[in-house]
Amino acid sequence: MVAETVKIALEKALEIMGEREYTSPLLDARLLLSHVLEVDKSYLYLNLDSEIPGDRLKRFYELVEKRAKGYPLQYILGSQEFMGLEFHVEEGVLVPRPDTEVLVERIIELVKSEKTESGPKILEIGTGSGAIAVSLAYYIEDAEVYSVDIDETPVRVAAENAKRHGVESRTHFLHGSLFEPLDQLGEIEYDIIVSNPPYIKSDEIEKLQLEVSTFEPKLALDGGDDGLVFYREISSGGLRYLKSGGMLAFEIGHDQKESLIEIMDRDYRDIETVADYGGNDRVVIGY
Ligand code: GLN
Repeated sequence: MVAETVKIALEKALEIMGEREYTSPLLDARLLLSHVLEVDKSYLYLNLDSEIPGDRLKRFYELVEKRAKGYPLQYILGSQEFMGLEFHVEEGVLVPRPDTEVLVERIIELVKSEKTESGPKILEIGTGSGAIAVSLAYYIEDAEVYSVDIDETPVRVAAENAKRHGVESRTHFLHGSLFEPLDQLGEIEYDIIVSNPPYIKSDEIEKLQLEVSTFEPKLALDGGDDGLVFYREISSGGLRYLKSGGMLAFEIGHDQKESLIEIMDRDYRDIETVADYGGNDRVVIGY
């Protein structure tokens, strides 16, 4: 391959990625190139005329082609920021979304407004990258967090992320379905149960953005025929594990607020909803 400069490589990458809705072509190209060159993004701005070694150039174009087909940038870079913390991500874990920060922010706010002598025990159903569990443990210094996932990849990735952020002694990642692995821990009552469960209707997964529907784990998205299967399971199943007066907090899809209120109304009180920064209903909390 003929040597090419940073500038030329970026221009060619732009042509390849074009105007796909799921890419920010120039930003993506810069991130991919700095990833391949193992340099900071700022290096590129100062070295537009530097020639890129052939092997790196080849690798760069491979990744650009992959990205052009919709492969998530975060899986290539191996990372996504959430709540100001870098999380390692890879295929098999859902990429943390900024919308989910609203759920974590609200829980932190509620915990901090309540003075208790011992830290809260928090149970999460559906670990993913560990974004929720790790950031709760990180920002609530005395929280003890338990998080369950039905798939093994998230359990491994989340433990790695907990370690990266120094909260591994207060986070416990368990493999199994819903509440099933908890009994091995003995009788623990939780102050908070939190979940961002799969909530897309099964037949609507194909309609999501290509990069989500093709490359992100279906297990983390598929909420059954009406998208509400896991809300029902967690809402009723959680009663056995919650302290009296304990809190159940869910992330929801933008059109699921009424359904959630209906599901939680029987067993939970003081139900509140919180909108995300885009004005969509995103969080439902009950006690
Ligand atoms: N918000 C996710 C999306 O990108 C869905 C996550 C979920 O099902 N919990 O569609």
